Amino acid sequence: MSQPLSTGSTTNAELADRYGRKVDYLRLALTSRCNLRCVYCMREEHAEVVAPRNELSVQEVGRLLEVLAGMGVEKVRFTGGEPLLREDIVELVRLAKSTEGIRKVAITTNGLLLDRYADELLEAGLDALNFSLDTMDAQRYAEITRRDLYPRVESNLMRVLGHPGLEVKVNVLLMRGSNTDEIGRFVELTRERAVTVRFMELMPFDDHQIWRTGRFLGADKMLELLRQHYPAIESVRGTATEYFSFTLPGYRGSVALIPAFTRNFCSKCTRLRVTSGGRAMSCLYSREGTDLRPALMASDDGAALRELLQECVHQKPRDGREAGDGAPRTSMSEIGG
Ligand code: SAM
Ligand code: SF4
Repeated sequence: MSQPLSTGSTTNAELADRYGRKVDYLRLALTSRCNLRCVYCMREEHAEVVAPRNELSVQEVGRLLEVLAGMGVEKVRFTGGEPLLREDIVELVRLAKSTEGIRKVAITTNGLLLDRYADELLEAGLDALNFSLDTMDAQRYAEITRRDLYPRVESNLMRVLGHPGLEVKVNVLLMRGSNTDEIGRFVELTRERAVTVRFMELMPFDDHQIWRTGRFLGADKMLELLRQHYPAIESVRGTATEYFSFTLPGYRGSVALIPAFTRNFCSKCTRLRVTSGGRAMSCLYSREGTDLRPALMASDDGAALRELLQECVHQKPRDGREAGDGAPRTSMSEIGG
């Protein structure tokens, strides 16, 4: 159930919406390109939504971060598409880290290119990494991602799990008839390691609508399965989106359930999303968004950009349902999850 929101008028805070939520977190899709083809995300013949030459440049990202940090944004997550396909990813992390006011820089990645970039990203100051991995079975990995690359990804996961100073979360999208039998295997990653494993619900963001095929598994059902495997599991406080968060006695890490589709956490949402083509979206379910490009390229002091951002955030829908069901988005890679 959504929690009630205050409907007071906009405050003087620079990036506040009509319900009193203040935006402090930017999710920036750096590209819509990807080196995998996850069945729930994009077709094999997926065409890039934004051609590489039209992706936001380092300068544009720098300007966006500077202006947003001046308006209260403290955390940035680079996502995509696959953000590590950007050859300037290390430079982008360094830039974000050196932006005054930005306190936390994170990446969501499928992990395939971490053998190339993990050390440099850490050296550039990366604070946190979400590693998306839905199976630890090589054949199943090839079925889900349509790429036979599991050994590389597994070794990259082990590489980052061993890095002290990097906060790692593993995102596991659970689907009926696909990977629910691996819940225990993923939970066991938390036994010896200070990692959070997050089980996520499928969302209706792929153009062949896999979520209509009976694969959807709700967070309530996930909780039931988790309790069957681990009756001793204990609830703990998670982040705003980790609606259910748990630990097991004696385990170092934690487990969370993300009700991404059932949308229980909209009332606490402080995020702004920007697509790789430079459109700001105040909600994952928003349809249109605000084109920031002209303002990003303007030679003013950032006033036009601030105004556009304020207007976009002011229009932030109360929750994902108000933004619209059955969104026309054809792939999560446009907006980055
Ligand atoms: N390529 C990177 C990755 O996979 O981590 C970053 C972008 S990907 C779109 C971000 C997250 O969105 C991943 O954790 C992925 O599992 C999730 N995702 C993609 N399509 C989804 C869908 N239809 N429903 C729920 N989550 C989805
Ligand atoms: Fe690529 Fe991430 Fe989409 Fe998978 S979920 S196809 S890795 S963008």
